[in-house]
Amino acid sequence: MAGGKGTRLRAITNDEIPKPMAPVAGKPILERQMEHLREQGILDVVLITGHLGEKIREYFGDGSRFGLRIRYITEETPLGSAGALSMLPPLLEGPTFLLLFGDVLFDVDLGRMVRFHEEKKAMATLFVHPNGHPFDSDLVVCGEESRVMRFDSKHNVRSGWYHNLVNAGLYVMDRGICSHVPENTKVDLEKELLSGLVERGAPIYAYRSPEYVKDVGTVERIRAAEEELESGFAASRNLKRRQKAVFLDRDGTVNVKNGLVYREDQLELEPGAAEAIRVINRSGYLAILTTNQPVVARGLCQPEDVERIHAKLETLLGREGVWLDDIFYCPHHPDKGYPEENPAYKIPCRCRKPDIGMLEAAAARYNIDLSASWTVGDTTVDIQTGINAGTHTALVLTGDAGRDGKYDVQPELVADDLLTAVNTMLKGTR
Ligand SMILES: [Zn+2]
Repeated sequence: MAGGKGTRLRAITNDEIPKPMAPVAGKPILERQMEHLREQGILDVVLITGHLGEKIREYFGDGSRFGLRIRYITEETPLGSAGALSMLPPLLEGPTFLLLFGDVLFDVDLGRMVRFHEEKKAMATLFVHPNGHPFDSDLVVCGEESRVMRFDSKHNVRSGWYHNLVNAGLYVMDRGICSHVPENTKVDLEKELLSGLVERGAPIYAYRSPEYVKDVGTVERIRAAEEELESGFAASRNLKRRQKAVFLDRDGTVNVKNGLVYREDQLELEPGAAEAIRVINRSGYLAILTTNQPVVARGLCQPEDVERIHAKLETLLGREGVWLDDIFYCPHHPDKGYPEENPAYKIPCRCRKPDIGMLEAAAARYNIDLSASWTVGDTTVDIQTGINAGTHTALVLTGDAGRDGKYDVQPELVADDLLTAVNTMLKGTR
């Protein structure tokens, strides 16, 4: 989708070139996208152009200069972010296509995202990620297995707690979606097409990834992106490359341990925890929460309650401009025989720490090098988990402060609190 007037980019485009031709570090956004597609073997491109579209056609031609086949659809009148999809089917040869926007820079392992889309048998898959300002962003609300349940637009009044999950503007789609777009009609992709499909129960999924996807629709964002491209930060997040993570325990590490936490009003951040996560977010390490929550197996609450507690945690962190790249929790407990227990969760499992199922699942999902990662927590269980997984280990002296006495283990690092731990662990990294 290479239309759009780019009013907010006028200082760069002078209204003489269309928005996707705005240079980022000396090269048009659209050309950067094309290079990225060609590197990944995606060679067939359809450019949907509008305002000043002839400039795009002059530059890219039939695509042969870029090693691509490029064809064009011209919008005579603006059709919004999805109206042109009605004209796409005659140009599609396969069952699946990527939908990209001309003001979004990305460095993404697209094959990985397409495999997710195919496994889910989705009609559309949205690339989603947490961001540093969820309070004024449009949010995607997911149910089980990453299925999109609804969109929470920023024009709504957002009350209560919410998960920090934002649509980044990059899609894999089944060609069948085009038949849901009326001809010659202005259609908004998220507010009309996708919202309508979700309401009618269509299989729309969210692909969560820490990879670099950035809307560069303002001059300020272009300048930030230039720095992120040139420093290698954007490329380093591509999941083809090995990632590093900090695996954070929850109760007693990120939030205050007040006995068991099974209602959201019991959750309160440890002092300095948001600042510590900010250091992780800026370091290039992924911030991944891994927590045992036997409160579900004990019958104190349901998985939905744990989800709500995590929504509160994400809301509080989001207000501070920081985020967790993912959250894993184990709802199980192995010992049966308590009166209130929930027998479905009273099972031995691979995810309960110090077993390493959660760390292994995160490593598989995000291509994490465990030996270059850290496990941080307030108990010997956390330290034993890190040792079992082959990560570095750090004990914080908040919460149980290592006095749980379950395992006879030595952490590599002991720190008064999470912020001190993180500053010591990540010293010298970006
Ligand atoms: Zn488990």
